[in-house]
Amino acid sequence: MGELSELFAPGRVAVVGATEREGSVGRAIMDNLVSDFAGEVVPVNPNYDEVLGLPCVPDVGDADADLAVVVVPPKIAVEAVRRAGEAGVRNVVVITAGFGETGAAGANRERDLTEVADEYDLNLVGPNSLGIMSTPNGMNATFGPENAEPGSMSFMSQSGAFITAVLDWANDEGIGFKDVVSLGNKAVLDEADFVRAWGDDPDTDVVIGYLEGIEHGRDFIDAAREVTRDTPIVLVKSGRTDAGAQAASSHTGTIAGSEQAYETGFDQAGVIRANSVQELFDSAQMLANQPLPESDDVAVVTNAGGPGVMSTDAVGESGLSMASFSEETLETFGETLPEEGNIYNPVDIVGDADNDRFREALDVALADENVGTALVLSCPTAVLDYEELAEATVDLREKHGKPVAACFMGGERVDEAASVLQEAGIPNYFDPSRAIEALDALRRYREIAGREYDEPTEFDVERERAREILESVRGRDDNRLGVEAMDLLSAYGIETPAGEIVDSATDAETVAEEIDGPVVMKIVSPDILHKSDIGGVKVGVADEDVYDAYEDLVTRARNYQPDAAILGVQVQEMVDLDAGVETIVGMNRDPQFGPLLMFGLGGIFVEVLEDTTFRVAPVSEREAREMTEEIKTAPLLRGARGRDPVDREGVVETIQRLSQLVADFPAILELDINPLVATPDGVRAVDVRLTVDPDEL
Ligand code: ADP
Ligand code: MG
Repeated sequence: MGELSELFAPGRVAVVGATEREGSVGRAIMDNLVSDFAGEVVPVNPNYDEVLGLPCVPDVGDADADLAVVVVPPKIAVEAVRRAGEAGVRNVVVITAGFGETGAAGANRERDLTEVADEYDLNLVGPNSLGIMSTPNGMNATFGPENAEPGSMSFMSQSGAFITAVLDWANDEGIGFKDVVSLGNKAVLDEADFVRAWGDDPDTDVVIGYLEGIEHGRDFIDAAREVTRDTPIVLVKSGRTDAGAQAASSHTGTIAGSEQAYETGFDQAGVIRANSVQELFDSAQMLANQPLPESDDVAVVTNAGGPGVMSTDAVGESGLSMASFSEETLETFGETLPEEGNIYNPVDIVGDADNDRFREALDVALADENVGTALVLSCPTAVLDYEELAEATVDLREKHGKPVAACFMGGERVDEAASVLQEAGIPNYFDPSRAIEALDALRRYREIAGREYDEPTEFDVERERAREILESVRGRDDNRLGVEAMDLLSAYGIETPAGEIVDSATDAETVAEEIDGPVVMKIVSPDILHKSDIGGVKVGVADEDVYDAYEDLVTRARNYQPDAAILGVQVQEMVDLDAGVETIVGMNRDPQFGPLLMFGLGGIFVEVLEDTTFRVAPVSEREAREMTEEIKTAPLLRGARGRDPVDREGVVETIQRLSQLVADFPAILELDINPLVATPDGVRAVDVRLTVDPDEL
């Protein structure tokens, strides 16, 4: 597993701050390490000659260790890590708390720690970590009460307490792990590093995690995309609801909160996001222990009609579908099942079914080429032995190489059978919908593993010209630009209608005369965010009305805000809205994931309709196209109700060009093109609004 293999498989572990003092963290770690660890444990403490019978050395430099676990008080922890670095130890776990999580002094200390780690190129976990475990060599370098059982899932958690709770429960359930990491403050190693390491680890079948936040979102996406080709990642992230959207001045900023960024980022990364701890483990166990299905079609074999219906409902709510059996299967069921049964899916083999009938029916269903996966769904009866059914289920899964979920309903009666199933990596659930949800994780992963990722297209653009336009924000206290920055879009090859900004009614007439037909006139003022809200947009102005329209727009702006700065009035070519669709293409910069692109149905009711979709930029052509396909009103673009389809490729290209613009200029904090009018003849950006951070230019 590359860089981090020694972290999890060290030959010698030094415990810096080891002690026998009861109730101390140093003692707990020593106890945990000496209990099962296959390597050597070296206590480090200048005050003792030995700890728990092991010879103690005064300095980590004397320990000749591959991994140093640091538990000394915060004031001397950074120095201890430096000593480890000097002594050539490459891997360090800092258990000590009192760093970034505790205010200014702690934050400084954490900065020092990061510097030391950089200087010595350390693989550093923590600080403020519960520690790490690795089951192949029995290493428990944590101060938790429980050691992990061996298994093929590797688990990272931003909460150490959650690890202790999970292990206590998992040990009862017979769920095991390969590696466990308490991430702590993630001063050096973070989730992306562990995802990469476990992706390369032949002993890790599934990566699971509990995260509270991700600091370098794009790095995480890139790491996860690599890994999910053959190792599934299932994550729970807490904080699902936005604690109040930030103060945004664009439509995109208002709609695209940080929760949106996570959802989008995880999805683009190919992470399976679990909504609860239960879903996390249900999905992960399925993925760790079962083969991937070849199709999403489920066969349900049951001795109980009612639960059979429940399972059909659950399939309907998932991304799976009920398999339609082949003629041959139906014929066999017709011959072998009692008349009052049901030969169609869900197959009802009736309440008097014994083990033989159950086994045969499941065998026939799994043999059907139309069946991708099966659910064994059963209620207890006097003629059925649950343990025997469990064994048959395990055998038949092996025989057919198809994933199987179990739903043996009942209480105590199920216990023995459930252990047989669990042993074979088939968790038993009481609730059919839970079993179906777990199977659905296999479908989700199959889709992810089959994804293709392309590089973003690079367009020829006028980057310098764009920079100059962005520079014009200097000196504005609100850092905002409006239609006066329309040329920014042209510089990146995004089409805009002909138009000019003028500061007198007569100039407005001159410009209008140059443009064929009636024009659109808009007030241009940094103090007026949404022009139509104050009647600041006039559509379809005839040449003879241009003069009055100019005066009227300025009067409206003055009435709205007497001291509003008015840059003038934009006189713009009219775009044929009747033949077109108003869309929005926008961006909001997320602190974790960077530029989050939005596409949706545009116009002045964007927030009301909220028919939008998102991607973290930069996007490939494929991703841009997907965006235009997945909004609810996509049929409008394809030409609903006899209308001509609009230039969808033009929309796809605009999304990509905007993606390039916001990737090129981190100074652009948020941006809306609203509307981007898409007609059968092409696309036109008729309005733009953006916020720029001049310090980033
Ligand atoms: P704002 O969003 O500040 O209110 P816009 O420039 O987006 O101002 O104009 C508001 C609406 O006016 C647009 O959603 C569109 O329906 C219409 N509109 C604006 N410019 C044009 C144009 N050039 N051609 C046709 N309709 C336009
Ligand atoms: Mg607008």
